[in-house]
Amino acid sequence: MATIFTKIINREIPASIIFENDKVIAFKDINPQAPIHILVVPKKEIPTLNDITAEDSEYLTAMYLAIKDIAKDLNISEDGYRVIANCNTHGGQEVFHLHFHLLGGQHLGPMLS
Ligand code: 5GP
Repeated sequence: MATIFTKIINREIPASIIFENDKVIAFKDINPQAPIHILVVPKKEIPTLNDITAEDSEYLTAMYLAIKDIAKDLNISEDGYRVIANCNTHGGQEVFHLHFHLLGGQHLGPMLS
C-alpha cells in the first residue's frame, strides 16, 4: 500500500531530497534524531524487512551503495555513521515502506540509549 514515501518519490509532497537514481531516493528526515538524519528508500513499495525477497536484491544493493555515496558527500565516512532499519511494532516502524535511517554528524553513543 502506498505510503507518504511514495508521495515523496512521486513529488506529490515536498521533501529535502539529497540523492536519487532509478532504484533509490534519499531525503532528510522531517524529525531528525542526529545532526545528519537521512532516509534511504527503495523506489519499490516493500512494506517491511519481513517482505524482502531475493528479487529485491538489486534494490537492497542500491540502498547500501547510496548510503556509501551519501556518507562520502556529507563528509561523514571517516568519522562514521549508523544505519538502522525498524521493523513492525517492537522495532518502532511508523512508515510501512522499507527504509534505512542514516544517522551521523556526532558520536551516537550506545545503540539502545
Ligand atoms: P520509522 O519509524 O518508520 O522507521 O521511521 C519513519 C521516519 O519517517 C521517521 O523518522 C519520521 O520522522 C519520518 N517521516 C515521517 N513522515 C515524514 C515526511 O513526511 N517527510 C519526511 N522527510 N520524513 C518523514
